[in-house]
Amino acid sequence: MAMLMKWRFKEEPEQLWVKVIEAIHGSRRTIKKYSGEKKHYLESGKQSSEWIWILLRKPLKEEFPLLFGLAKNKRNKIHDNYKRSQEGILWDWSWSRLPNNSEEKSEYEGLKELLLQQSVGRDEDIWRWKNNMEKGYSVKEIRKELARIIDVNEEPNGFEWSKIATAKVNFFMWRAIEERIPSSVALNSRGMQVGSVDCKICGLAPETANHIMIQCPVVREVWLQLWSWMKIPIRDHNENMKRRIQEKTEWPKKKVNIIYAIHLLAAWSLWKNRNKQVFEDTLRNPAMMVEKIKEESFDWIKLRSRHTGITWSEWRSFSYWNNVV
Ligand SMILES: [Zn+2]
Repeated sequence: MAMLMKWRFKEEPEQLWVKVIEAIHGSRRTIKKYSGEKKHYLESGKQSSEWIWILLRKPLKEEFPLLFGLAKNKRNKIHDNYKRSQEGILWDWSWSRLPNNSEEKSEYEGLKELLLQQSVGRDEDIWRWKNNMEKGYSVKEIRKELARIIDVNEEPNGFEWSKIATAKVNFFMWRAIEERIPSSVALNSRGMQVGSVDCKICGLAPETANHIMIQCPVVREVWLQLWSWMKIPIRDHNENMKRRIQEKTEWPKKKVNIIYAIHLLAAWSLWKNRNKQVFEDTLRNPAMMVEKIKEESFDWIKLRSRHTGITWSEWRSFSYWNNVV
């Protein structure tokens, strides 16, 4: 071990990062300093298969028993629980429900405190301690990291990550249901000069995210065709996207995840179509859009779900599940 680190442990044993390092490795002895590197890298170790618990002194179920109870996927590895985006690390714990009483909330605060002391390396099995060791522990650095940690499940909208949809499409929907995509109304409210805030396609109403994805008359036809294809009930054309993707009780159980992913893709395609209109002055008709959505979601199903054997004709008729037990 490097002399510097020895010294630091001796002199400042109570520093947060020392605790974290100990927690990761179980002891101080296994820390490695890679020669030639200025920064220190910590191996999380492939043996750390239980949840994020390499961060913790003890396994999650001992350190945060209430949270462990709420976790849907109790055998997840760390990389199953976060997604990387330009906006930071997006933690997705898949709680069966949000922590809602004071004991659970206090555990949750404790967990977040631990998370913001770490940054996740691009390499799955290496977690890099971001603060420069020479500089030591910096509150400012950690606060900066804090701002970059996003927890999907903490979002009041309760957005649910789709494993079938791509990350790009998930992130889009996550923002869109909070009106955080650059629609004319959103840009205007941030003080940008956008000219008219009306819809660029129909011109009949202010262009909000919900108008682009649901309420625009042109868009309604796309949804009608999609519902008919998926054989699910039609819905109110004036509802918002959040409601549309959260109310799944009318969807057949076997197909819930797939129908959900198609909803995400449809919203994304409608947004891209809107951009085509704005930037290229061209527009697809509803039938063409629906066709594109079927094709793209077919790729997802083949590549990103367990239904790899599905054929194009089964997909087109949405009948595959009739033969699946
Ligand atoms: Zn419109």
